[in-house]
Amino acid sequence: MSGQPISSGLGLGGAAGRRRILIIEDEPDLVRGLRDALEFEGFEVLSSGLGREGVRLLRERGPDLVLLDLMLPDANGFSVCEEIRSTHPLVPVIMLTARSQETDKIRGLDVGADDYVTKPFSVGELVARINAIFRRLHRVVAPNEEIQIGAATIDPRKHELTRKGKVSALSFYEVELLRLLWERAGQPVTREEILEKIWGVSGHATTRSVDNFVVKLRKKIEENAAKPHHIITIYGTGYKLVL
Ligand code: CA
Repeated sequence: MSGQPISSGLGLGGAAGRRRILIIEDEPDLVRGLRDALEFEGFEVLSSGLGREGVRLLRERGPDLVLLDLMLPDANGFSVCEEIRSTHPLVPVIMLTARSQETDKIRGLDVGADDYVTKPFSVGELVARINAIFRRLHRVVAPNEEIQIGAATIDPRKHELTRKGKVSALSFYEVELLRLLWERAGQPVTREEILEKIWGVSGHATTRSVDNFVVKLRKKIEENAAKPHHIITIYGTGYKLVL
């Protein structure tokens, strides 16, 4: 593992890029149809036909929304949904199912699904539901909107952080990381997801670089970088922003 801070050369990441949708569904024809329609709508699409692999993709790739089949070869969609909820409480989940019984719908919503469609459904309707969920997500920050974190005000346009009258310059990546953490304030964001979304790289090789990067950022944003109150380390996982 490299201990070097991440610098240039890794490309601009996905934080300002396309929204990413994870499809966990084992019917190839349905996945193909959904992928085509969603890519046409401008979404990036990941997919898995297995519940376990889907959960791994969720952890590693940090999708913005999950389409989850209820009947998977290796898992029950309800339990997969519960698992998603326990680690990623705010990622929207839409359940896809052939069942139409009211009890299943209620159970799906009980385990934390945000919405529910019954097969066969129209792809157009599903896309409309996905867009509706994104519109009502509670935190969507415009690219140039100021972000307030504790006593610090971040101006993404000027790449500046002002705290108690002191102005610090922020790099592009620092602004993007603060924006990502801010959009997900109060919930853990994994190092892998940070790497993937901010730097556009996946894998575990350079997750320690994220730590080095956060150490520097804390010096700008925290009252005492050694005892952070805003960018909190979640041991073994990543970071959580406390506003
Ligand atoms: Ca199925």
